[in-house]
Amino acid sequence: LKRKKNNFKKGENIIMEEIIEQIHTYLETYEKENLLRAKDSIEIDWQKLSQFSFEVSQMVLDDFLNIKSLFQNVIHDHYDVNLEIRFKNLTESIYTEIWKIRNKHVGELVSIVGFVKKVGGIKHIISNKTFECINCGNEINLPQIPAPNKPEQCHCGNKKFYLKDSKAYDIQKIMVEEDPMILDFEQKPERKLVEMIKCLANPGITKELQPSVKVKVTGLVGERKRSPRIEEYTTFIQANNVEFLKEKEIKLSKKDIERIKEISKDDVLNKMGQSISPTIYGYPSIKKALFLQLIGATHIYEGNMLSERGTINILLVGSPGTAKTALIRGLTKFIDKARYTGSSTVSGAGLVATVMKDEEIGDWSLESGVIPMCNGGMAIIDEIDKISKSDIAYLNIAIDKLEVPFDKATIHTVLKTKTTILAAANPKDKVFDKFESIYKQINLPKDFLDRFDLIFAVEAIKDIKTQGNVIDTIFSKIEKGEQTKPFYDTETVKKYVSYVKQIAPILTKESKSYLKKEFLKLVSPGSEAEGAYFSSRLLINLIRLATASAKAHLRKEITLKDAEISLELMKTALISQQVIKDGSLDVVSFENILPKNKREKIHIIKEIIKDLDKEHEGRGAPIEKITNKAVDLKINEFELEEFLRHLRNGEIFEPTRGRFKLL
Ligand SMILES: [Zn+2]
Repeated sequence: LKRKKNNFKKGENIIMEEIIEQIHTYLETYEKENLLRAKDSIEIDWQKLSQFSFEVSQMVLDDFLNIKSLFQNVIHDHYDVNLEIRFKNLTESIYTEIWKIRNKHVGELVSIVGFVKKVGGIKHIISNKTFECINCGNEINLPQIPAPNKPEQCHCGNKKFYLKDSKAYDIQKIMVEEDPMILDFEQKPERKLVEMIKCLANPGITKELQPSVKVKVTGLVGERKRSPRIEEYTTFIQANNVEFLKEKEIKLSKKDIERIKEISKDDVLNKMGQSISPTIYGYPSIKKALFLQLIGATHIYEGNMLSERGTINILLVGSPGTAKTALIRGLTKFIDKARYTGSSTVSGAGLVATVMKDEEIGDWSLESGVIPMCNGGMAIIDEIDKISKSDIAYLNIAIDKLEVPFDKATIHTVLKTKTTILAAANPKDKVFDKFESIYKQINLPKDFLDRFDLIFAVEAIKDIKTQGNVIDTIFSKIEKGEQTKPFYDTETVKKYVSYVKQIAPILTKESKSYLKKEFLKLVSPGSEAEGAYFSSRLLINLIRLATASAKAHLRKEITLKDAEISLELMKTALISQQVIKDGSLDVVSFENILPKNKREKIHIIKEIIKDLDKEHEGRGAPIEKITNKAVDLKINEFELEEFLRHLRNGEIFEPTRGRFKLL
């Protein structure tokens, strides 16, 4: 650390001795037992110190390095141990927002708060080397920071030395990103490199330093040259102490709880739904669903293994210009750990993690994306259809398993992703076709879409009356009129959600038999003829929604009413997706599978390709010959084209242009 201040001048020895005495008395009085137990470091409570000696506590703030070494010397002299001094519980006045750190802070003690964004590997730095003259045995000790150093000549004239000893300390570099919630909406969170050295790089702390963990780091601001050629510097923080912060809990008074009980009896889903986005007209089902999403269901474990997630994930699909972005964006203010990500940053890697060679950390590093950064909260992702397909695999694991293991280069870690996903997507052709299943209109693979409990098509409003209502709502929003006033303010919604979240309702006999009956009604007709496709995925989604509904009503049991609410929401979503026919699920469109007769024809095409490939000694079946054979079997060219497109999703490939082989 350069440019450190030096307040001790010659002639101030008397004051110094007084200070040393005060430090000694303080340690004797308050820390003696800790000192006898301490192994590598000791924590000094600054508030306690300031009550004992205002002077010494001020010097911690103004002349950190010198006071720290005074403490070390006193401890060494009186207790015969070498300890690192870590200060805790420092005055709030040194707190600095990361984005405000400037040149003037260099050499100063600050504390910052943020989330761990990247973590580097453990290294060590050799700080000192002791050389011994091979002629006279004279020892020379030289610092190795900032650059390696060797003695040139001994006083005896000899120029050859043994390396007798070297001293080193551990270092781990991390990147801390500030909490976006303290910033303006469009402000990009700033990051700061933090060096964890010596005992701060011990295994206990390293283990806790996972991406997305919230930390308070206290340390000195240092500066580092960006390139040898120009006088341009960046700042970093050399940590003296780190505190792991818990998310702040919402405190509820007796009065709050009484109010929550009252609210729960009064049409809670509709009124809470309205309160979530009062300035958007309509969409009562979506708003209800969003409220249930805030509450969530319950994670179900078998031993230590997660068997069913409790997060409820929702996707809104609609043409640009519909209310979908406004609907999802508004939810951030109801959750402390929530982030909104627009299209510019959407890529699968960015959403879960990126492994990269990092210049600042000087190592392979894992930069965690928005989903792990919102662990325990909600990631709100707009234009999710823009994510890169190759990274969907990570996303699927993150959503289903609620954690993603990484073993790449020197990185071996598990990112926690207990994150609720709320996303929006545009249809492929921008305009949403009301008469076509949603699955053919979104540019996302089916297995990824299946991770969403509810998918709603948000339609553009076409009838004049509703358009009129939308316009009135906009007027009301601008005039802050009654119509767009929420039933409950943000604080009330947050308190309500935090209270009911804790409830773990159980299924009743009644709700189980209702869900069973209705679920079978929903999925079974027609499915036999279409290939007996049966998936219980929807049932799990229904149970999750019913669980959230029971919580929302302060019920310890999932009642028939909750089951009905859940089924109704599910049906509304499926109807909007155009996958309900005559009251039951159109499995063919819903699962995006081919009907039975088409599947038979596809099988025939595969056989043709296999035979023709053999005929051509493994060089692939030529397209003309496939077409000829297909036409003979009453499969026309258009159908063939569709089948080949389908098969190219993992069943056939094109080794050379116009030739096909089975995978
Ligand atoms: Zn010598």
